[in-house]
Amino acid sequence: MSRPSPESYERGRGMDAHNQVMREIRAEKDKHYDPHEPTRVWLDEDNTPDGVVDSLTIILNTGGCRWARAGGCTMCGYVAESVEGGSVTHEALLDQIDVCLEHEAENAAEPADLIKIYTSGSFLDEREVGAETRAAIAETFADRERIVVESLPDFVDREKLADFTDVGLSTDVAVGLETATDRVRHDCVNKYFDFADFEAACEEVAEADFDAEDVDAGVKAYLLLKPPFLSESEAVEDMISSVRRCAAVEGCHTVSMNPTNVQRYTMVDELFFRGGYRPPWLWSVARVLEATAGVDAIVVSDPVGHGSDRGPHNCGECDDRVQKAIKDFDRRQDPAVFEQVSCECEATWEYVLDEETSYGMPLTR
Ligand code: SF4
Ligand SMILES: [Zn+2]
Repeated sequence: MSRPSPESYERGRGMDAHNQVMREIRAEKDKHYDPHEPTRVWLDEDNTPDGVVDSLTIILNTGGCRWARAGGCTMCGYVAESVEGGSVTHEALLDQIDVCLEHEAENAAEPADLIKIYTSGSFLDEREVGAETRAAIAETFADRERIVVESLPDFVDREKLADFTDVGLSTDVAVGLETATDRVRHDCVNKYFDFADFEAACEEVAEADFDAEDVDAGVKAYLLLKPPFLSESEAVEDMISSVRRCAAVEGCHTVSMNPTNVQRYTMVDELFFRGGYRPPWLWSVARVLEATAGVDAIVVSDPVGHGSDRGPHNCGECDDRVQKAIKDFDRRQDPAVFEQVSCECEATWEYVLDEETSYGMPLTR
């Protein structure tokens, strides 16, 4: 593979070309959202450095990711859910938090120890969530144990993290790294930053951890299994090496691997529609988790849309069983869970690993 260069971008290839296509695809969106309502909120449980705990996950509607407005990542449909016009006020963001607290009060026996806040972009980007709002949110959740906030590496700053650690919250920054391989991140995902930027963000968080009293600060890396343009076996190899490289970075205590699902208004959707993309097999998820079980980090995966054509799937017969084994692995980190599941379609998956060579020719549906 040749290295990308600024000249090739100028000639309308590389990122320019990806961004142009993504802008056209996203322009098809026609949904409008209320800035006083969160994009989504749900209750779950999560494996954290303190063990498995109840969690409240909030997707704040902050007006969308700046990168997405330039075109954005090939698999990401979040911008289609963002607010028209680009920014959401302090009051509206706090209204969204209130809606989430009401949801929790109505549906959970007690407040969750873990709060996870994602935005359609970066929580630590002050153009999405201002300093005043960030401090107010930290205050609102000061009685919890741990908070996770999502951010691109550029916006990670020890002083912003101190808003949370100072009120007694252990704080994790979730970074959508997608892969440790720069070439794959740039050309398959269309994400602009480098692994070195992720390492720098981890260093900044390690400093925040050093400054924090009685609580920790750490990084949770989000990886993407099977971005477009990779064959099944290339995707598996890329993930195994990515999990290992992330786990070796100081400060990164958790790796969450998301198998790609086909979201509307994305390049992946266009490829899928034309028969040029198949989401990863659940066997591939299991293979990566098994192969990386010994690394010095918690490794988890939560396949969204498992078993459907647009989500990670096997043959249809075994999907629920394999998904259950993956969820089991998330909690216990024991690769033996995968010894208890098998299916005839494993042979097909092995064949795909051996023979699939081109993104344009998936061998199976
Ligand atoms: S994946 Fe993240 S960075 Fe990429 S377009 Fe979506 S919200 Fe923006
Ligand atoms: Zn099967």
